[in-house]
Amino acid sequence: MIFSWFRSRRRRRLLEKPFPESWLKILEKLHFYSRLKAEETSKLHGIVQILASEKIWSGCGGLTLSDEIVVSIAAQAGLLLLGLPHDYFPGTDEILVYPREFYDPRSEELLAGQAHVQGPVVLAWNQAKRGMARGRDGRNVVLHEFAHRLDMSDGYADGVPLVPSVDAWARLMKSERENLLRTVEAGRKTLLDPYGAEDPAEFFAVATECYFEKSNALKRERPELYRALSEFYGWAPC
Ligand SMILES: [Zn+2]
Repeated sequence: MIFSWFRSRRRRRLLEKPFPESWLKILEKLHFYSRLKAEETSKLHGIVQILASEKIWSGCGGLTLSDEIVVSIAAQAGLLLLGLPHDYFPGTDEILVYPREFYDPRSEELLAGQAHVQGPVVLAWNQAKRGMARGRDGRNVVLHEFAHRLDMSDGYADGVPLVPSVDAWARLMKSERENLLRTVEAGRKTLLDPYGAEDPAEFFAVATECYFEKSNALKRERPELYRALSEFYGWAPC
């Protein structure tokens, strides 16, 4: 109780500070930034200030963190929160950033990103930068991993974040994932990254990338999926 009072006071003070000019220049380079409405821009500034200050940011594998790394990752993660009731990804205290893909001993693979139910979000900076540079290709590792974190809000990575109707959500996502799987198996081109067919958690993360980066195409081609995501995220990217 006392902790949350101190935290609210600290946040209020942080939000009263002007947004740093040098951070503004970093945001202006992000493709989505100029398309935000004034209210969204100001919300995003606050989210970036709080994520940058409250999370423990660590450079790994020889990477030295810079404002560019922290601010651009925080801003992309913040996009997910603009229309949601949220508490700044409460399960994630730490964000680890590697210079490039990192080895995961459990899967014995090189990964571009990883999110844990209890633990940090891990990102490869080269892949995060790639996602930022190609803002309309539906591939963005920062959106992907932080979508996993939203999915894990209830403690489970099952593709069901905190939604009012769990059954309706799970039914729709299952049918959309099966549709993706059929399209992949038929060898046809897919709007969503085929990796989304892997399991329900990956489907939600991949669908989120598509919602934020190819929203018009998603609205046209998978209107029910688009509607469910826009109701969940509480705002439409364009
Ligand atoms: Zn994933």
